[in-house]
Amino acid sequence: MRVVVLGAGYAGLTLARRLESRLPATADLVVVDESDDHLVQHELHRVIRRPAVEDAITVPLRDALDRATIRTARVEDLDREARRIHLSDGTLDYDYAALCLGAETAFYDLPGVDEHGIPLKRLGHAHRVRDAVLDACEVDGRAVVGGAGLSGVQVAGEIAALAAERGADLDVTLLERLDTVAPAFPEAFQSAVRDALESAGVAIHTNARVTGATADAVELDDGTVPYDAFVWTGGIRGPDAIGSDRPIVRGDCKLDDHTFAVGDAARVVDADGEAVPASAAAAIREARTVAINVDRLVRWELEGGAADEFPPKLDLFRFDAPGWIASVGDDAVATVGPKVFTGATARTMKATVGAGHLSSIGAISRAVNLVQEELGPS
Ligand SMILES: Cc1cc2nc3c(=O)[nH]c(=O)nc-3n(C[C@H](O)[C@H](O)[C@H](O)COP(=O)(O)OP(=O)(O)OC[C@H]3O[C@@H](n4cnc5c(N)ncnc54)[C@H](O)[C@@H]3O)c2cc1C
Repeated sequence: MRVVVLGAGYAGLTLARRLESRLPATADLVVVDESDDHLVQHELHRVIRRPAVEDAITVPLRDALDRATIRTARVEDLDREARRIHLSDGTLDYDYAALCLGAETAFYDLPGVDEHGIPLKRLGHAHRVRDAVLDACEVDGRAVVGGAGLSGVQVAGEIAALAAERGADLDVTLLERLDTVAPAFPEAFQSAVRDALESAGVAIHTNARVTGATADAVELDDGTVPYDAFVWTGGIRGPDAIGSDRPIVRGDCKLDDHTFAVGDAARVVDADGEAVPASAAAAIREARTVAINVDRLVRWELEGGAADEFPPKLDLFRFDAPGWIASVGDDAVATVGPKVFTGATARTMKATVGAGHLSSIGAISRAVNLVQEELGPS
């Protein structure tokens, strides 16, 4: 019996760690990731201003996993009918698999956006953004961020703070197609984020539909915005290994009887029929439910249950967000229920979330370093 976890981000690593302690000893657990390290992606924007944060937010998988076999390879294709995964270095068959490959940046075929816009999903992207912003600071130019979701607002805040630290007169512009920043989130959060961005000097253009980009300007349907640095966080799409769509899964996260999709890779509709926002918070919570379900199915099958007519009932994931937190440079905005927090309280909450995740995967010293980076001198 082989259980394979594809991807070791928030969803995959949480799932794999839970399966390590749950699965019966006779089940093999394999974790595949193209990287040797787990990346705490929700802190990636920090690397733009403070490259040293990189050390705190990358955790070697060999330190975070114990029982699982780690295979460093790129997942190229998933043949669910044959239960076979095609990897960059061979194939891997499975009895149960969880697709936790996260999402890729969507460029929507907008001419020039893929070529000129820098995405922010990997460490290399954060370094490219930093270099471009530092060059833009040299000429007191303009940085444009396309897309005001969680990553876009935090990137814009970080760029504004970096420019301020450098004493540069950089214009930072945030473009959003819809009529608000952080469109997928509650209203109180949206308006607090807007206030924080405006206090940081970020110019916000909502209802701004990007139609393309050239080497020095972002094109909108009603004009152009010149730039020296252009970051694109305008949307996400599914992993190439499943044809770049994000499949819809219900609260059990099942793609079929043997395959699950967890985290950003899928669009999850929870037990209450609510669409779950793509977020680290959701990916971790989904993974906890899927760990219970995979373990239940493995035990049922090992005990000869597969010959039975009825497979075990699976738990359904219900997303109950405790609240949302975003950093805006050295400020932060947090909502817990209807309450909105900013300033030191929100900054502490933000630091606690990142450190809490690191601690939960056993990376205690990195958790401490992250808190120091987050709450250090501002
Ligand atoms: C700048 C930024 C700020 C954010 N801020 C927040 C925030 O404040 N709060 C929040 O909740 N969310 C935030 N998010 C979103 C959050 O990071 C994602 O929702 C979360 O990472 C999704 O987790 P995941 O496990 O599904 O995917 P990921 O964390 O992306 O993990 C996917 C894993 O799969 C691996 N992988 C991908 N493709 C392949 C392949 N083909 N072969 C092998 N391995 C592969 C990757 O190496 C990675 O380890 C932010 C995102 C960004 C970019």
